[in-house]
Amino acid sequence: MNVHDSEKMLGILDQQGYAETRDPHNADLIIFNTCSIRQKAEQKFYSELGRIKAFKRKKPEMQIAVAGCIAQREGANIIRKAPYVNLVLGTQNIHVLKQLSSGITSSAALDDNPDLETTDLPVKRVDGIRAWVTIMYGCNNFCSFCVVPYTRGRERSRPTKNIVGEVKELAEKGYKEITLLGQNVNSYKSDTNFPGLLRILDGVGGIERIRFVTNHPRDLSDELIDAIADLAKVCEHIHLPLQSGSNKILQKMNRGYSFEEYFEKVLKLRNRISNISITTDIIAGFPGETDADHALTIDALKSVEFDGIFAFQFSPRPGTKAAIIENQLPDELKLIRLNQILKLQNKITENKNRSLQGTIQEILPEGESETYKKMHTGRTRTNKIVSIPRSDVEKGTLVHVEITKGGQHSLEGKPIT
Ligand code: SAH
Ligand code: SF4
Repeated sequence: MNVHDSEKMLGILDQQGYAETRDPHNADLIIFNTCSIRQKAEQKFYSELGRIKAFKRKKPEMQIAVAGCIAQREGANIIRKAPYVNLVLGTQNIHVLKQLSSGITSSAALDDNPDLETTDLPVKRVDGIRAWVTIMYGCNNFCSFCVVPYTRGRERSRPTKNIVGEVKELAEKGYKEITLLGQNVNSYKSDTNFPGLLRILDGVGGIERIRFVTNHPRDLSDELIDAIADLAKVCEHIHLPLQSGSNKILQKMNRGYSFEEYFEKVLKLRNRISNISITTDIIAGFPGETDADHALTIDALKSVEFDGIFAFQFSPRPGTKAAIIENQLPDELKLIRLNQILKLQNKITENKNRSLQGTIQEILPEGESETYKKMHTGRTRTNKIVSIPRSDVEKGTLVHVEITKGGQHSLEGKPIT
């Protein structure tokens, strides 16, 4: 979501005649687009902000803006702490960058923007093949660990016609894959619901693949499962954050489902869409999590066998309920549990990748591999990255490949003719 917000900022700045530079010495304006989902992300920002102070001293005309979730949460405090910051831009106020040319003095734009979901901002995308498309803003779920409802405000859906308009434009520009973005896409509600939106977008010529993130397990409906199964362009992958395998912890997290209910949905997905890949998020060391609760998460990973996971140590976020629950666990214990989770999942992922050896997969080549310049990378419909010899494929043109090797972290393939 932040990456896409940065693309919107670049879009506005582009219209104002700014050009992007990766070298801060050349910059007239530096924007920090911040994340506050976990403490680590916040610390990173504050140390970068400290480093920029010396630059600013040497180049006082350079402007510094702070955007994103830390900006929204801290507001003018940031300017108080770091007076060399010129502008604090809340998550609903990216459009304020349009006024940059008229000059900005120290200010914070943090208000609720009533036009957020109906205003389309210009977007500068770099990829050319794959594009993020916002369908919803904010979140109403208030999971007890999560800062998002406080930093991104209430849930609002973008009008269907705006989304369809943007996707048609992307198709005309040659984009092949879109990823629909929202904190809980299953609760999209505008002129249609989420499965309805997928059905409309499936009809947009030129677009070959449709993905979406992220789903709340509680709101995953049979209608959505049918849409994934029926619609040709909607890819067979779902990111369905579980968070914990213990019902006691899930309840304390305010997630609104039990592990059994979650598992039932996994089985339904796999029954209806046999090759679907399922990925998840797990939090290790939520307050009050006992060894027995942790063991239930380990059991859950074993029984679901996810294709991949993102796992995090619980990080207390100021203002959230979970930050003040008794029984916060020591960092060392959270780390031990996280490592156990990752070790187990690595084995599961490796087995899954190995079982793909010899299969034929459809790949959308995205460009050269960062590690091996002689290779192209692309993703399967199930969102697994595959390296392919470069001469064999063209960026943006779907190819079928045979998977020749499946390792712990990657797959290799050769095009079939
Ligand atoms: N809306 C998405 C989640 C967005 S945040 C959903 O509900 O699925 C992405 C992930 O960050 C979450 O799924 C969770 O696993 C993790 N996360 C959020 N807050 C956290 C915290 N305080 N500590 C550790 N991990 C956290
Ligand atoms: Fe956070 Fe829960 Fe909303 Fe996801 S659904 S953004 S975890 S509050």
